[in-house]
Amino acid sequence: MEIETLAIHGGRSVDLATGAVATPIYLSTTFEREPDGSYPHGFEYIRSGNPNRKMLEDCLAALEGGSVAAAFASGSAATASVFQALAPGDHVIAPEDAYTGTGTLLRSIFAPWGLAVTFVDMTDVEQVKQAVHPNTRLIWIETPSNPLLKVTDIAKVATIAHQANAICACDNTWASPFLQRPFQQGVDLVVHSTTKYLGGHSDVLGGAVVAQQDSDFFQRIRQVQTAGGAVASPFDCWLVLRGIQTLPCRMRTHAANALKIATFLDQHPAIEAVHYPGLPHHPGHTIATQQMSNGYGGMLSVQVKGDRERAFSVLAKMSLFTRATSLGGVESLIEHRASIEGAGTKTPDNLLRLSIGLEHGDDLIADLEQALG
Ligand code: PLP
Repeated sequence: MEIETLAIHGGRSVDLATGAVATPIYLSTTFEREPDGSYPHGFEYIRSGNPNRKMLEDCLAALEGGSVAAAFASGSAATASVFQALAPGDHVIAPEDAYTGTGTLLRSIFAPWGLAVTFVDMTDVEQVKQAVHPNTRLIWIETPSNPLLKVTDIAKVATIAHQANAICACDNTWASPFLQRPFQQGVDLVVHSTTKYLGGHSDVLGGAVVAQQDSDFFQRIRQVQTAGGAVASPFDCWLVLRGIQTLPCRMRTHAANALKIATFLDQHPAIEAVHYPGLPHHPGHTIATQQMSNGYGGMLSVQVKGDRERAFSVLAKMSLFTRATSLGGVESLIEHRASIEGAGTKTPDNLLRLSIGLEHGDDLIADLEQALG
């Protein structure tokens, strides 16, 4: 089945009890046992399972072409579950430009807990190879990356991981399964912040881990989910599932708008650099073309000519774009990324990150033109 169909039907059916076409929200925290002690519907207690969460997990597994999924209360909780499923003493290779929250988890929580971590430029596969140690258990990919939209060759890094008997996980938040399906390039786990494109409307926090195959490692993630309890609530699962129904339509427009805006900004005299993998001069363009389909995503960054003050003066003039962090919603957002990332960031001070929404591309261009002018 194609992804447009899976987005609407994956994991769901008409409600058997009532015939409701739109999925009901099951708020019950507990489920009835039969006289013999069994649970005929498969649900026992909300932390270990809930019908809305099961539907979302089944849908996400279908969208990514995986087997099983675990939904969490946030993307960061989903990310943390993968690290928690490792053992102290294990070694992780991660990109030096991973999402700041992922870097913080590794540096501040999991390094003291006993994980060894090496950060590399993941676009350079030689660096990844050099970083492999006998205790390497996990290679973490994030592509396109934040905020420079660097592109990692997923298939090559997955091969390095498997040669080292390590697991390869890919944070697919920025592309979404509509634009990139990392299992096709050989990764073992896909991680999402469903807060972004999957939810799609800037109104729900969530995350998920999808596994290509059920495995002992995935069962460990499941245990972290149900024993730790950082699960997605029924309403949050319902909101993400509702958002997923329009994912393919939304992603097409996000990507078309972003390409149009990137092309416009690329020729603008007030812009020093545009980072968007859809532009032919982007260093990751060829790999992105190979491993992404239907477009290059809705995220782009620009470096304005000038300093931090100039970047802030452009921000101050934006009118349709909202000055706010996050991404993946229907509305366009713009942010000064270095000040969000805080002390120690390597993000250039003249960089603005744009999450391109679903407004008309010409209106967004007009807004940028007047702000840059
Ligand atoms: N991964 C990526 C690529 C992100 O951009 C984010 C958040 O911005 C996360 C993970 C964390 O997601 P959440 O905010 O849902 O915890």
